[in-house]
Amino acid sequence: MPEVPEMEIYKNYLNQWVKDKHINKVNVLRAKSVNLESSEFCRAVMGKKIDGISRRGKYLVFHLNDGHFLLTHMMLDGRLFLLTTDSETMLEQESDVSQPMTLQSEILESSAEDLKQKLKMLPGRASVVFGLSDGSVLFFCSLTLGYLHYLGQEQLERKLRELGKDPLDSKVSAQDFSQLLERKRGMIKPWLMNPKNISGVGNAYSNEALFSAGVLPTRLISQLSSNEKVTLFNSLVSIIKDSIRLGGDMEEPFAAWDDFTGGYNAYFKVYDRAGKPCLVCQETIQKTEVGGRNAFFCPHCQQ
Ligand SMILES: [Zn+2]
Repeated sequence: MPEVPEMEIYKNYLNQWVKDKHINKVNVLRAKSVNLESSEFCRAVMGKKIDGISRRGKYLVFHLNDGHFLLTHMMLDGRLFLLTTDSETMLEQESDVSQPMTLQSEILESSAEDLKQKLKMLPGRASVVFGLSDGSVLFFCSLTLGYLHYLGQEQLERKLRELGKDPLDSKVSAQDFSQLLERKRGMIKPWLMNPKNISGVGNAYSNEALFSAGVLPTRLISQLSSNEKVTLFNSLVSIIKDSIRLGGDMEEPFAAWDDFTGGYNAYFKVYDRAGKPCLVCQETIQKTEVGGRNAFFCPHCQQ
């Protein structure tokens, strides 16, 4: 599941490639992924300019020039893909792709099955497709648990109101983090993964931050020292920043030319490494279940 780093990388790509473009065509292939009736959603979004894209936790917000917003959450397997006008070679030979706009209309009139066949690189079944004013095509794929909602300002605020602090918010300090943990019960890992506490931290980065801080995922919050709380916060922020710098852990590229995405995969120290030697002490990495999710840890480096 994408977490803060992966969503931040999407945000950066979108601001570089999609910002200031108009949405000229809309194809809703999975009606349940949008919050309005399909034709109504198309009418609402069509012709609007994308003024910019922001992120809160694991959410991306497209700011439209009509004062409305598109809020998307990828959940487990949602993915974005951008077909830029220089990517025609990714389509099958028999398609008439000499003109970018031909390519765009062909895609926008296709079914999800056709699209997957035509565009081998597509990271899943297309749920919603936008044709943009520069001829490029933006795919929202596999929005089965995830979604793309057209919202007014008030609806957006209501939706995001319950979210906890974003780990990349420069106004959030280690002191704020420690304060949030005061008088809290339970184990630290489920707390870290609860978006009402800190938003955008999932299984991968909670495991990594706890390893880096030397704290077992099962440790009770009430037993953490002040130092451990500060170290945990600093570890979390620095791992998230490293991951963004190195490409995050998403397997699927954002576009045909994207060889940056996924660069952080090789850097995980405990996540998904059960049975392998700890990179620090050679002890075998263990896996256990904490709060219904897999926790990976080194029994020697973490206490
Ligand atoms: Zn170790």
